Amino acid sequence: MSGSVAKPITHQQTQPVVGRLAPSPTGALHLGNARSFLLAWLSVRQQHGRLILRIEDIDSPRVKPWGMQSTIDDLRWLGLDWDAGPEAAMNNTVSVRDSTPPIHGIDYIQTRRLARYQQVLEQLIADGSVYRCTCSRSEVALAASAPHESSLATLEGPVYPGTCRPSKKSDAPRSLSTDKFVWRWRFADGEASWNDQLRGIMRAIPAEQLGDFVIARGMWPDAPPSDFGMWPDAPPSDFGMWPDAPPSDFRMWPDARPSDLHLSDSHLSEQRADFPIAHWNCTPAYQLAVVVDDHDMQVTEVVRGDDLIFSTFRQLAILGHLGWRPPRYIHVPLMIGPDGRRLAKRHGDTRLSTFRQSGVSPERIVGYLAWTLGLQAAPEPLQAVDLIGRLDWQALPLAPTIVDNARLPW
Ligand SMILES: [Zn+2]
Repeated sequence: MSGSVAKPITHQQTQPVVGRLAPSPTGALHLGNARSFLLAWLSVRQQHGRLILRIEDIDSPRVKPWGMQSTIDDLRWLGLDWDAGPEAAMNNTVSVRDSTPPIHGIDYIQTRRLARYQQVLEQLIADGSVYRCTCSRSEVALAASAPHESSLATLEGPVYPGTCRPSKKSDAPRSLSTDKFVWRWRFADGEASWNDQLRGIMRAIPAEQLGDFVIARGMWPDAPPSDFGMWPDAPPSDFGMWPDAPPSDFRMWPDARPSDLHLSDSHLSEQRADFPIAHWNCTPAYQLAVVVDDHDMQVTEVVRGDDLIFSTFRQLAILGHLGWRPPRYIHVPLMIGPDGRRLAKRHGDTRLSTFRQSGVSPERIVGYLAWTLGLQAAPEPLQAVDLIGRLDWQALPLAPTIVDNARLPW
């Protein structure tokens, strides 16, 4: 590996636990998100560890400019706190999307760490861990055809079939003639496994069952002028899902628009093959940013919803390649609607901000969430701090909790 590879951190046995709350600032923290954050907070507080609030504001079309403040307000209102977070940076800037250097050494806002992600991306490009993919979303969906029989990823959408995957690391990419492309992580063959602290050993054959995944989106600097600033493929912000899902590449990637380039494809491909990396316009995707953040912020414990179990295979692949020590992972059950689907708008409004505005106290919500987790016998009002000492992972239910919005206890 090159000299720029960060050295793995050696954790001492006595090193305190470092956990993180990592919301995407979409302005819509709902009961399900709140419960996962409550557990992440509770676990760290019980272990007298250190908690980070990190704002994951890249790579999601649902991020809203006011979402960061409203997310922070919701978490505070619930009674959660943290030892490091974005507030210092927020107080010193007009826009969270500007690129002012960090004020206290590290930023806890992803859009302010783009240069760091780019640095790691360049390393991964240089060592052949990733390859360029020029497939459109519809091409991926078509080529993926029927879901893999035992696919872990059917919940996430089509598995990328490897259309652009070079057979050797030195192979030229299929085509460099479209304006936009993504960098895909090239999964190694064979089985991968890791130990979820709640669910035990998780196994998969990532290259087959999950497929190579997007770690950055790129655009050629010589692409024709376009009328967009970031990415043009953001769906309208009010579409049906709640924002707890990480953006998945097939939904984010737009259909390729017709090229209006004057050069022939082959001519362009030759020119672009040697284009300096530094001149590309790259936007890191969720999987890369999370890995770099967890490493740089020395996170030792990740508590999050079990819809991210598949992503853990992806993040561990990157971590392992870079020689970075992974945190321990605890994937907690989700809250679902009566129809068995992940809590979403179709199930009614379960946003904390809505409950707050209608006069529900945070203690009622915390008490209800604690009851659904078996942390108390009835949904009695309770402060978050009152839960410290009550969490026993071995006793936590593994099944999702069904939420009937019409029958909440308030
Ligand atoms: Zn492709």
